[in-house]
Amino acid sequence: MNKLTVKDIDLKGKKIILRADFNVPLDDNQNITDDIRIQAALPTIQYILEQGPAKLILMSHLGRPKGKAVETMRLAPVAKRLQELLGEDVLMASDCVGDAVEKEIAASPARVVLLENLRFHNEETDNDAGFAKKLAALADLYVNDAFGTAHRAHASTEGITQYLTSAAGFLLEKELNYLGQAVSNPARPYVVIMGGAKVSDKILLIENLLTKADAILIGGGMAYTFLKALGKPIGNSLLEEDRVPTAKELMEKAKKAGVNLVLTTDFVVVDGFDKKDTVRIVDEIPDGTESIDIGPKTREEFKKVLSTAKTIVWNGPVGVFEIEPYAQGTKEIAEYLAQLDDATTIVGGGDSAAAAKKFGVAEKMTHISTGGGASLELLEGKELPGIAALTNKDEVNA
Ligand code: AMP
Repeated sequence: MNKLTVKDIDLKGKKIILRADFNVPLDDNQNITDDIRIQAALPTIQYILEQGPAKLILMSHLGRPKGKAVETMRLAPVAKRLQELLGEDVLMASDCVGDAVEKEIAASPARVVLLENLRFHNEETDNDAGFAKKLAALADLYVNDAFGTAHRAHASTEGITQYLTSAAGFLLEKELNYLGQAVSNPARPYVVIMGGAKVSDKILLIENLLTKADAILIGGGMAYTFLKALGKPIGNSLLEEDRVPTAKELMEKAKKAGVNLVLTTDFVVVDGFDKKDTVRIVDEIPDGTESIDIGPKTREEFKKVLSTAKTIVWNGPVGVFEIEPYAQGTKEIAEYLAQLDDATTIVGGGDSAAAAKKFGVAEKMTHISTGGGASLELLEGKELPGIAALTNKDEVNA
């Protein structure tokens, strides 16, 4: 990576401002129900603290407050949890910018400060230059460790880099190492498992993969638009009618490019989404039924292709994995990936990461991305603004 990382800069005695992703789930009593995002930021936070900075100022968004201070979206529960994990005081600031905040920080003996939710101000998502400058004024150096928002050009991810030397944290670096490698120089064969609900969300990804991947396995709700394009019956299964021509075009391009595009060949169908007792396996989707998972033959075909792969990216569940009788296909694929020893297995964020966790195999994957949207855009070949804006290694005489 040609971007500066925390290891490249002298942090001693400096004020560091760190963009983290503390967008944690909270219950009705403001208790954090899953602190994995806080845990994920700890290596960078602890490393910075070990270097003896004057201050470490942390900032994040939480939820979608849309420019207003929303009581249930305050970051106080995160400050409390951080304090427990770090074993030192964390000052919870009353806001993220302004004179009052500057005074609070200067007056507090705490080394670690957590700014209030950035998205209480619309200027954050508007990437307002004045707001970014105010954030930058709090520190000497900027570190970005929030991969999940790196695809957004916001004041705390992009704007602020105009004013401070900007480095990547360990989490961001790790994401780039695995996903970046898959994008630019994958060990081959490179196989991508695609699923999820919509073709429209994944068109750019498939387009980009046609020049990169050796095989694309298509399951999940998006498969039926492809099958429709082949003239196959799909019953009441998910369909994006307006994308049928695109699906056809993608299949033709795959053929020309020599990419093995593998579609679903048998199905788990039900008479209606809620009629779990009508579940059955079929080779052709009957009228009046809906397919909610890939069938056993398809699972075996997918596994055969995966068995020779050296790099695997999994993006999207191959069935409705949230519902027990519809989850078998996704479960089997997840378990198969978990026991592959010779392949690098990368799980895109969002639903595939949730599925890997649900089936207890998350630990067995080489890398699980912390950013659904960001990992998708990276794999689509797009430049992520939050990463592009970081200082290049050759720009500093460190
Ligand atoms: P996405 O957000 O596009 O990754 O879509 C994930 C969602 O797709 C999950 O909630 C799955 O339940 C859903 N899904 C996967 N396969 C199917 C299917 N065959 N029919 C309907 N929904 C599906």
